[in-house]
Amino acid sequence: MPELLDQIRAIVGEKNILSGDQLSGRSAGYWRGGDLQALALVRPATTEEVSRILVLCNEASQSVVAVGGATGLAEAHQTDETEIALSLERMTAIEPVDIGSRTITVEAGAILQNVQEAAAEENLMFGLDLGARASCTIGGTIATNAGGNRVIRYGMMRDLTLGVEAVLADGTIVSSMSGFLKNNTGYDIRQMFVGAEGTLGVITKAVLRLHEAPSSMGTALLCIPSWDALLKVLRKLDRAMGGGLVAFEALWRDFYEFNTSEHAEADKPLETETDYYVILETFEFGDDPDSSRLEDLLGTLIEDELVIDGLITKSEDERRRIWDIRESFEAETKLYDGSMSYDISLPQSDMENYTNRLKQAIAIRWPDGIVYTYGHVGDGNLHYSIVNIDWNAHEAVDGVVYELLKDYGGSISAEHGIGLEKKQWLGISRSEAEMNIMRGIKKTLDPKGILNPGKLFDMND
Ligand SMILES: Cc1cc2nc3c(=O)[nH]c(=O)nc-3n(C[C@H](O)[C@H](O)[C@H](O)COP(=O)(O)OP(=O)(O)OC[C@H]3O[C@@H](n4cnc5c(N)ncnc54)[C@H](O)[C@@H]3O)c2cc1C
Repeated sequence: MPELLDQIRAIVGEKNILSGDQLSGRSAGYWRGGDLQALALVRPATTEEVSRILVLCNEASQSVVAVGGATGLAEAHQTDETEIALSLERMTAIEPVDIGSRTITVEAGAILQNVQEAAAEENLMFGLDLGARASCTIGGTIATNAGGNRVIRYGMMRDLTLGVEAVLADGTIVSSMSGFLKNNTGYDIRQMFVGAEGTLGVITKAVLRLHEAPSSMGTALLCIPSWDALLKVLRKLDRAMGGGLVAFEALWRDFYEFNTSEHAEADKPLETETDYYVILETFEFGDDPDSSRLEDLLGTLIEDELVIDGLITKSEDERRRIWDIRESFEAETKLYDGSMSYDISLPQSDMENYTNRLKQAIAIRWPDGIVYTYGHVGDGNLHYSIVNIDWNAHEAVDGVVYELLKDYGGSISAEHGIGLEKKQWLGISRSEAEMNIMRGIKKTLDPKGILNPGKLFDMND
């Protein structure tokens, strides 16, 4: 191995390959923390360098894990001391926006927020938005097919990625960067890398789809008395806003209380106690946006007794404070050793029933366990943070969450991916025929299995 590392050093330069003590202080990731464990951390500067590194690693059957912002929730970026962590942190270039095509071409290490800002400078917007925006990378969001807060209007990364450049395990550079919305010329190569969690290639560049920026934006927090009312509110708003409803995030009462408690970063903007709270965001387009539309709608929803209290934010500061309730996990990380997090998809009409059954099942086996519930209800996606249970029971807790999901035909991962955490449960959401296709693709593109081995699925399962 020292010989391989010397060869890689010759490609990237002395200061871009770190190993041993040099890794101390380099975090393994946002959720687990601790120091990065790896044979070496390698930081290439160009696609050609990535290619040359992979040629060497493939010849040596050396495992390589692409790493972006290490914010992923499924341990898919995790490395051990035998693996090379290939960080794209030096490949952050953002090309000027192509205004005519409404696209932007970026290197895979570009940080999501920087891409959002580059689009905004041209009065356009990049539709992906999520809590990790300041640290997650475009490569990571493509590899995990990230969703976030605006899927209801703009779709997931799969819908926003128009082109991909990637390097295969043997060093081949695949450029599928046409950037066309319509391109019916056979198999969609770029889509293979979306959601593949770094198992098929290292993404080095992407062409991203941009949309017109709204001329105004409304953000509201609503207090809603029942699940039935919540679904009615969602439909009414979606219809009334004519496609302008961009976020609809539900917070169960326990989550709202906890994330606005004295342990949390966010304050409590509404004291009204109710079963459900919703953070919603609307966009208006055109030269003459109707700034009072959301206010009128809220009035009607209150009259119809679907909403019992609510507020519309008046400034960016207020808006940020509302979103902090949803996006800050400060209280969780302060009070609990670890949080078992889940992101499932299931029909909206089943969400209340499933959540109640899950809470009962957890309470029976772990009476001290707490289930915090929130999620992108508009997209059929719920999150659970289950805390106050010994970490050693993680697998048993997974079993309760996923076995129960079978009754609803749900998906074990709506957006965070499979990684190491969920691979033993993948069979709940994927048929044997689908698994065989996935294994076949992996075998063709990475016959030696050097790219992110053991993540997503095991070749021999
Ligand atoms: C506060 C917070 C809120 C979040 N909210 C959401 C949310 O609402 N919706 C959502 O979908 N996700 C959410 N996430 C998780 C989200 O999946 C990640 O933030 C993001 O998609 C991963 O990007 P990353 O650069 O951190 O990738 P990493 O975590 O570094 O890697 C994730 C996976 O991508 C692979 N990968 C990384 N870069 C490349 C590359 N260049 N080529 C090939 N493979 C690569 C890795 O090998 C790994 O398999 C949240 C995370 C945090 C911390």
